[in-house]
Formats: sequence, C-alpha cells, structure tokens
Amino acid sequence: MSYMAMNRIDLSEYKMLPGEVSGSKCDTVLNVGWLSGDYDFSTAEPSEEFINALRYLVSTSFVNVERGYEYCPLCLPERPKDLTRANFPKHESFINIYGKEQKLGDCEVWVDGEGEAYAAPNLIFHYVVEHKYAPPEKYISAVIAHYKNSEKRNGVRTQLM
Ligand SMILES: [Zn+2]
Repeated sequence: MSYMAMNRIDLSEYKMLPGEVSGSKCDTVLNVGWLSGDYDFSTAEPSEEFINALRYLVSTSFVNVERGYEYCPLCLPERPKDLTRANFPKHESFINIYGKEQKLGDCEVWVDGEGEAYAAPNLIFHYVVEHKYAPPEKYISAVIAHYKNSEKRNGVRTQLM
C-alpha cells in the first residue's frame, strides 16, 4: 500500500498541501473516494438519484485543479512513466457531461455535509459509474442534498448523457 493510499482512506482527515485552497468553510474535511487499487472498497449498484447528483457536483466543483495527475488505478494499474496531458488515457479521463466533454482526474470536488466537508477526486464519478464504488452513506446523502439545494436555488439542467 502506498503512502498516499494509506493516508487517504475514506473518512480519514483531509490534509491540505501548501498552496492549496479549501473548497469549504467547514473546519473538518474528510477524504472520500481516493481509490488506489491497493485495497478493497465497498461496491453497490449506485442509484440514479446519486449518479445524477454526483454528475452535477463533478460539473460544478473544481477545487485544487491539477493536484498531480490522478488516473484510474483500476483501469490502469501501472502508471506510465511519461504520463502527460496529451497521452492521458482517454477512455477514463473524459466523460460527457450535459453534452460537453469534461476531463476527469485533474481536480477535486468538494461538498459540505452535516458539519463536515468531503474532498474527493473528480474521478469519483468514474469509480461510481464504472467500478460500482460505494462511498460512505453520509457522502451519498451530502451529494444528493447539495444537488437538491442547488436545484431549488438555480434550477438544474436536466441530464444529457
Ligand atoms: Zn477505471
């Protein structure tokens, strides 16, 4: 297990690196969804409601853009030595969101829960949809609540996958 993986298990404390910004006003920030391929994770068939809410979060939250290059360790167990933006594995790093191509793996998505915030890589969308990764229940609730609040405030675009 790598150092990074050990320190980023679900609901462990999120530690800011120098120069990084917080995506929340909450004092407590927890890690969610930093899969490494080194340890098992819970799986479940995600609900449509959760996928829809997570899609919205991934298309609206851009925190700490390019905190390293994250790639899916499940699709690509060996990290290429010369990984660049140009040769980043296309099948996993781009998804179609609301009719627009969006890159995954280059930033974090943050969401506030009950008195605490959750910081995940935006690849979490890929993990949930493609690998059936099941995040902690309270994360799912926070993402759905965030979506519902945004819907009330702004009206949210309907999905166009
Ligand atoms: Zn994958």
